[in-house]
Amino acid sequence: MHPMASPDGCPALVLNADFRPLSYYPLSLWSWQDAIKAVFMDRVNIVSEYDTVVRSPSFNMRLPSVVSLKTYIKPSRTPAFTRFNVFLRDRFSCQYCAAREELTFDHVIPRAKGGLTTWENVVAACSPCNLRKADKLPAIVGMLPLQKPYAPTVNDLHRNGKLFPPNYLHESWLDYLYWDSELEP
Ligand SMILES: [Zn+2]
Repeated sequence: MHPMASPDGCPALVLNADFRPLSYYPLSLWSWQDAIKAVFMDRVNIVSEYDTVVRSPSFNMRLPSVVSLKTYIKPSRTPAFTRFNVFLRDRFSCQYCAAREELTFDHVIPRAKGGLTTWENVVAACSPCNLRKADKLPAIVGMLPLQKPYAPTVNDLHRNGKLFPPNYLHESWLDYLYWDSELEP
């Protein structure tokens, strides 16, 4: 395939069969290659297209900017425990000093002291705080998280997600992203 313009900046927004994004956090995006593959496998409908065309000896095709699944997938009601979602729950700020730079993760009860890698024990923390706290218990070192870590609901993440919209939103996606309205889980 010999793309005319660079298709690498042309991800497709993937909608469920009900035309809601398959996932918000992270936003469900496929590479243009995966999107075209799904079109040819008849798994998706093309909802909207980019101007960018890919050409091969056998066909020309405008790259899909939005596709919708032909078969409805029941969305997960509980957010995945991922690095991104922990940051989103904690609003991309250190849970000890509220810094927004050099973010990493901290086990509130250190792993060395039996702390688990769970929603209830992992928080966003900046590197300096992480180094300062090291393997000490929060009470010993006097560092308690600003908010008690918890397993967020999809709505919790939607609420915070509106504060941190993705860097790149193609205009054709906007009809399918309800950043300003309350979302059902
Ligand atoms: Zn900090």
